[in-house]
Amino acid sequence: MIELNGRQYRPPTTPVAVICADGCDPAYLEAGLAAGVLPTLARWGDNGFFALADAVMPTFTNPNNMSIVTGAPPSVHGISGNFARDRDSRAEVMMSDPRMLRSDTILALMSQAGIATAAITAKDKLRLMLGRGLAIGDNGICFSSEQADRCTPSEHGIADIETLVGRPKPDMYSADLSLFVLDAGIRLVEQNRAQLLYLSLSDYVQHGHAPGEPEALAFHQALDQRLARLAALGCIVALTADHGMNDKALADGHPHVLYLEDILNAQFGSGAARVICPITDPFVRHHGALGSFVRVYGKHAVPGLDPGIAAMRQAIGALPGIDSVLTREEACALFELPYDREADLVVTGDRNTVIGATAAEHDLSALDGHRLRSHGGAFEQRVPFLLSHPLTAEYRAITESRALRNFDIFDFALNGVAP
Ligand SMILES: [Zn+2]
Repeated sequence: MIELNGRQYRPPTTPVAVICADGCDPAYLEAGLAAGVLPTLARWGDNGFFALADAVMPTFTNPNNMSIVTGAPPSVHGISGNFARDRDSRAEVMMSDPRMLRSDTILALMSQAGIATAAITAKDKLRLMLGRGLAIGDNGICFSSEQADRCTPSEHGIADIETLVGRPKPDMYSADLSLFVLDAGIRLVEQNRAQLLYLSLSDYVQHGHAPGEPEALAFHQALDQRLARLAALGCIVALTADHGMNDKALADGHPHVLYLEDILNAQFGSGAARVICPITDPFVRHHGALGSFVRVYGKHAVPGLDPGIAAMRQAIGALPGIDSVLTREEACALFELPYDREADLVVTGDRNTVIGATAAEHDLSALDGHRLRSHGGAFEQRVPFLLSHPLTAEYRAITESRALRNFDIFDFALNGVAP
């Protein structure tokens, strides 16, 4: 057994594949099941286990991936966004540096214990954190489809991924960025090179297409076919998501966005507030860095000394489209966030609203007539929690005693099913 963050995990005796289907709102699976294009998922719903779970807040990619691989909330692992401002230096940085991660991962401990472990991600931004502590080599493989053409045995534990998968690395803005991850995982299982796999996809399709649109149905059908292949190879397969996805556009098709830094500085004076959008990542073409969770910093770095914070809080609460506005203390308590990395105020948008910083900072030209779909708030917290095999009586009892979290998935996949 390995032990991490208060949980014990049994080493797999048959290959176990845990999939984080990025942006897989339950509505996509409902639409696919209704259309009859998800036969594998339908079967697992009957013979395995299918429920809904809560993702961690903010409902962004990095915090949730790190929660899934550590089995713990952001207060434990420290990753509370894709992008953040350092409270002391005020530097604005990507939250992708493994030094920011404050926990070991299940993947690292398993590989160190001699279990052949593979972590494959669509976007390279997650690779270093997912690979932290992995015994790269015989028991550790970690790479991204984004950089599948430049893998080396010393850095990634494997080379020639394009040969392995049988096609060139996909475009960053494509459905194949995710399917390539799944196909690479399948090849590793076929070649008996991985006993524990973590396959983390991209939400490119979900940002661009609503459930029921042909592109979304085709993508989830392709996902379902890969799930069937993994199961046919004898894997225990588990699937959850980092967040859901909602339409964030007005009736006229324009994004429904509040530029909060502009609003606050107009009301409280130039430079009174800085708004950080933690959805920001290097590839923002499909959402313009607009999500439903932002952080507000007052002019003074220390809360309590800034008399403007309480007034700002009140002003924000009166804006249309706001779901919640929380102090640093409230946000950390409610969402289990790391206090030293939290802002003066946390603001979330409702189901149909995204929040930006200044209009000048967000480039929406690439939306190109598409309705904006995004995530980040509590309305994107419900995600699927799916297993290919039925639960043991003990784990079935857990599902009846409390709400499931997406970061329960490794516990359930390794300890909770009878192969
Ligand atoms: Zn995501």
